[in-house]
Amino acid sequence: MRSVQCEAIVFGGGFSGTLLATLLARQGTDVVVLERQQHPRFAIGESSTPLANQTLRDLASTYDLPELEAISRFGIWRETYPDVTCGLKRGFAYFRHRPGQPFHSRNRENELLVAASRKDAIGDTHWLRAEVDHWFARLARQAGVQVIEGWQPRRLEQEKGIWIAEGLALEGPLCVRTRGWIFDATGPAAYVARTAGSRVTSHGFRTATRSVYTHVRDLPPWEHQLQEASVSTLEYPFRADDAAVHHLIEEGWIWQLPFVDGRVSVGWVQPWKPSNHGATVKALIDQEWLARYPTLHAWLGQAKLAKTPGAWISTGRLQRRLTHLFGNGWVALPHTYAFVDPFYSMGIAWSLFGIRRLARWWNEDASTSRSLEALALYAGQLERESRHLDHLIAMAYRAMPSPTLFHAATMVYFAAATQAERSGSASAPGFLAAEDAAFSCTVDEIGAAIDQAARNGDSSVHRETAAWIEQRLAPFNQVGLFHPREPHLYWETAAPDTSQG
Ligand SMILES: Cc1cc2nc3c(=O)[nH]c(=O)nc-3n(C[C@H](O)[C@H](O)[C@H](O)COP(=O)(O)OP(=O)(O)OC[C@H]3O[C@@H](n4cnc5c(N)ncnc54)[C@H](O)[C@@H]3O)c2cc1C
Repeated sequence: MRSVQCEAIVFGGGFSGTLLATLLARQGTDVVVLERQQHPRFAIGESSTPLANQTLRDLASTYDLPELEAISRFGIWRETYPDVTCGLKRGFAYFRHRPGQPFHSRNRENELLVAASRKDAIGDTHWLRAEVDHWFARLARQAGVQVIEGWQPRRLEQEKGIWIAEGLALEGPLCVRTRGWIFDATGPAAYVARTAGSRVTSHGFRTATRSVYTHVRDLPPWEHQLQEASVSTLEYPFRADDAAVHHLIEEGWIWQLPFVDGRVSVGWVQPWKPSNHGATVKALIDQEWLARYPTLHAWLGQAKLAKTPGAWISTGRLQRRLTHLFGNGWVALPHTYAFVDPFYSMGIAWSLFGIRRLARWWNEDASTSRSLEALALYAGQLERESRHLDHLIAMAYRAMPSPTLFHAATMVYFAAATQAERSGSASAPGFLAAEDAAFSCTVDEIGAAIDQAARNGDSSVHRETAAWIEQRLAPFNQVGLFHPREPHLYWETAAPDTSQG
């Protein structure tokens, strides 16, 4: 059996694993990445955010990796890496569909657009993960990382302080050993964590959802449907399709993330119930529910499945968390530790926060007597942040049936995001202000008020609750949330630095 020695092993070669390995290699570490699949491989989780892009720029300057800066804005990405497919994301867009009625929106009642950037060139992006993750693997190799793809794990054990990973590589049996640390970036597989005895649980989450998703082609722009519905898009802060587009329906919501090559990521997130646990993909995407929404039905009906992945992919309950995320000699990255839900597109940014923390820990603490103590702080942060994200998202779902409550609930997220963007992702008090005690207390109070109003209230109670939320959020509202130039169209939430470039 071929044998390789190194100073650290990263399991999982998605963008998280290879980026972390790159940052360790930039610190002079001899790192091996073991990835089960071969790039390019399909992956979900594509819509990035200003916080993610700020973090990429911060990592670019700290680790002298200008390549990361080049993928942090739409314009420079397209100029520098035209072969790595992305999509333009100027912000978040929400359209509410009513059952039995074609899409309509009087006084913009069924629209909400929130701009994150002021121009296309400095816009955020959707990542076509097959190509972007492949690009990250190449970046890691350039930095001196050995990225081993097609790895089939057989045994992982720690013997006398040495980690031994045995498996089958493409060239045959391989044993990788390290006296150092191993990192778990295997996402939901949580290979290292499970081997070390950590369990996966959905216990304690307020959010309860599942999803089916795929990539399609030949989907006409949503903007055309708006024009047919006589919705004036002239006042929009960005083109309706250049966004993370959310179509809200009674059965959850549908995402639409267009890429520059015409492919579109489409997914449906629906409430998870134990009864739909074993539902087949066919049952989930059966046309019956879609036919209740004539505009969506006619529009989505024109799309064809893209070659990759070539089928709908169905998940079980999305919410998961590990019972513990580090131990002697191993530690998990954020997406391996926990996931809540795609709403608000937080996964990439949260992963980048975790990667930055672990790269710093490697530099400052890993080889000192403080290593475990410092990891306990990291673990505590991730735990609090995963709960904070769950609270923000659960509140949006609870509010979703009421346009008034939903608008107010999303403003809580945008207050958190814009505050964090303004303070700079490196100095923010935790991810999305999770470590800001006053803010998380406000989030809890607002969540409780939304619960109560959603349970008991009619539209006048919803309006009163929304007005109260606006007041409670005032100390955190730096960008005129609740008072856009035109109802439901927000032009001005971008942090000053996102307008540079
Ligand atoms: C339905 C859905 C929608 C989402 N939408 C968004 C979104 O719009 N925006 C956003 O920011 N985030 C989103 N996310 C979250 C996003 O997917 C994650 O943040 C992101 O994928 C994390 O990347 P990663 O590299 O950590 O993990 P992954 O992409 O999961 O990569 C893990 C890698 O580990 C490999 N692996 C598994 N087991 C082993 C093993 N035993 N040995 C070696 N390798 C192994 C896998 O092959 C894989 O390549 C979404 C998630 C879901 C489930």
